[in-house]
Amino acid sequence: MSQPLSQRLQSVRGMNDILPPEAEHWARLEAAVIACLEAYGYKPIRLPIVEPTPLFTRAIGEVTDIVEKEMYSFVDSLNGEELTLRPEGTAGCARAVIQHGLANQSTQRLYYLGPMFRHERPQKGRYRQFHQIGAEVFGLAGPDVDAELILLTRRLWRDLGLVGMRLQLNSLGQPEERARHRADLIAYLEGFAASLDEDARRRLQSNPLRILDSKNPQVREICAGAPRLLEYLGAESLAHFAGVQRILRDAGVEFDINPRLVRGLDYYNRGVFEWVTDKLGAQGTVCAGGRYDGLVAQLGGKPTPACGFALGVERLMALCAAQDGMAAPSPPEVYLAHQGEAAGRLAFRVAEMLRDTGVKTLLHCGGGGFKAQMKKADGAGAAFAVIIGDDEASSDEVQLKSLREATTGQRRVRVDALPGLIHEHFFNDTARKEDKHGGI
Ligand code: ATP
Ligand code: MG
Repeated sequence: MSQPLSQRLQSVRGMNDILPPEAEHWARLEAAVIACLEAYGYKPIRLPIVEPTPLFTRAIGEVTDIVEKEMYSFVDSLNGEELTLRPEGTAGCARAVIQHGLANQSTQRLYYLGPMFRHERPQKGRYRQFHQIGAEVFGLAGPDVDAELILLTRRLWRDLGLVGMRLQLNSLGQPEERARHRADLIAYLEGFAASLDEDARRRLQSNPLRILDSKNPQVREICAGAPRLLEYLGAESLAHFAGVQRILRDAGVEFDINPRLVRGLDYYNRGVFEWVTDKLGAQGTVCAGGRYDGLVAQLGGKPTPACGFALGVERLMALCAAQDGMAAPSPPEVYLAHQGEAAGRLAFRVAEMLRDTGVKTLLHCGGGGFKAQMKKADGAGAAFAVIIGDDEASSDEVQLKSLREATTGQRRVRVDALPGLIHEHFFNDTARKEDKHGGI
C-alpha cells in the first residue's frame, strides 16, 4: 500500500532514529562495553540481520512469545524463501559456529552487537527495533564460564558508573528434571485453569514453564505458589549451580535466587540470570543470559556446551541517563572561520594540518561574514576559533582566538606554528585527556 505523496513519511512505529547527540552517547557506551568484553578475551563476530525462519522456530521454541507473535517474518518474493528479521542474536551465532566449525578446534568467546526486531507493543524500554550487545561462549561446560560472564557484566556496570543493579539467579536443570517438574506444574496450574488468561491456558499442555514468565499480575500471583523447579534438580545440576554461586561469593557479587526466573526462550538449561534495576519502571531487566547446552545439537551441530548473555542497549542508555552517567558530547576543539578566496584555500590546508596532529576541527562551510561564522563557532562549543582573511592568507598566517577564556584575546600566528601552539599553549594536555575519556 503506497502512501499519498502529501503524507509525510515517518519511521515505522517502534523503530526509532537515534539522533545526535544521543547517537554519540550510544557510540561511547558501545565502546565501553566492547573494551570490557575484550578485556575478558571475547572476539567480535558479525552476523546477518536476516536469517531463515526455521532457525528461530527451532532454536527459540514454537510456544514462546517471540515465535508465536513477535517475529517479523516474510517470504522472499524472488525465491520463496521464508525469512525473519532476527529477534535475538544467540540462534544466529550458534548457526554460524556450526556452519563454520568454529567450536571444533578451540573454545570460542564471541560477542556481537546490533539491531533486533520484535513485534511488541511499543512503550518506554520496549521497541520493535531495539539493540542488543551479546556475548556467547561455546565449548565449556563448567560453572566457571557462567560466573565469568556475570563478573564481566558486574565490571561493566562499574565502568559505566551504574549503581543499584541487582542480580537474580535460577537454575532450569536438565531436560529430565524439567520433565518431572512439568508434570507437577501442569497438575498445579490445572487447579487454577479458570483464573488463567488465554495465553496461559493455551500453554498449559504445550509449554507450562513459560507460564511462569507471564507478565499478567493475576497469573503471576497464581505462579507464586507453583512447584519450584529448583526442588527437582539432581546432584549434577545442583553442583553446577552451587559452583556458580561459590565463584560469585568469592568475588563479592551479591545475588538473589529467583525460582520464577525462566527466561523467554526455550533453549536455556541449568544456570540463568538477569540483572535488574528498579529505576526503569516495568522494563527493568537490562541484561539476561544463561546456559544453553542443548542448542548447538538441536540445530544440527555436534553437542557443544554453551552459555551467554544479551544486554538491551536502549535500557542501558536510559539507565546511564537516569544516573547522570553521561558526559557532555565532545565539541570540536577548533572552529575554522574564513572569508575570501585565498583564505578559503588556506583554511582547507590548515584544517587538514590540524587534524593530522589530532585536533578535532570543524571547518566552516557555506560562506557568510565573520560575525555569523563566530556565532557558529560559539554554538558548536569549540575551544578555539582559527580565523583567516585574505590578509592573513597572503602572509601564511592566521588569527587564533580562545573562545572559553575571555581574557586570552586574539593573536596572529604563523600557520606552521599553529598546531604546536594549540597543543602546548592553549591546551592543558592532562585536562584534555580527562575530558576525552571521562564518563561515557
Ligand atoms: P522482557 O521480559 O523485558 O520482554 P526478554 O526476556 O524478552 O525481555 P531477552 O530476549 O532475554 O528479553 O533479551 C535480552 C535483553 O534485551 C532484555 O533484558 C532487554 O534489556 C532487551 N530487550 C528485549 N526485548 C526488548 C524490546 N522489545 N525493546 C527493548 N529492549 C528489549
Ligand atoms: Mg520479551
